[in-house]
Amino acid sequence: MPENLTDANPRGLHFIVELANAVQDGTRVGAADLMDLLARHGGPPFRLTEAEAGQLCEATGELIGILATTDPDAAAEAINALLGRHPARPHLVRLPGRPWSLHAQADRSAGPAPWLLSTAALALGLWFSERGGCAWGRCAAPDCEHYFIDTGRRTPQRYCSTRCATRVRVAAHRAQRGAAAD
Ligand SMILES: [Zn+2]
Repeated sequence: MPENLTDANPRGLHFIVELANAVQDGTRVGAADLMDLLARHGGPPFRLTEAEAGQLCEATGELIGILATTDPDAAAEAINALLGRHPARPHLVRLPGRPWSLHAQADRSAGPAPWLLSTAALALGLWFSERGGCAWGRCAAPDCEHYFIDTGRRTPQRYCSTRCATRVRVAAHRAQRGAAAD
């Protein structure tokens, strides 16, 4: 993500959501897990200590706060506050074979947590502004509390994954058949 993040490319946002879900679940959040997660999303190759992993998780809590927000005014305020504290210093980059796009130029020497907060604030801000609202949400399936980025253009997304959507549909179908059999 974070290295090549644009509003047209929600890859970075998927990193944020995967991180948020891992932290929320309280699993896969050790230094090795987080380095693996970063690598899978094309993030900078941080060598994390367990202390830094803890700081990253704590910082992720702030991002979860934004993902849990559905009120656009409140979300804008929270993103602005984050951008104020962790300036993303956006600049235009032209990646090979792609048009110019806006990227965070976060100070990586400050450590992984400030880097995460500044790049995520820009990513969420760009996405929020492109979509004109909180284009994210929390899964509506029972016993799933995962967040997702709503990439749907027409109807709002309700589930974190097709797995959850199918699970709910199958359960509803079974309940209906059960009711019909009664
Ligand atoms: Zn789900």
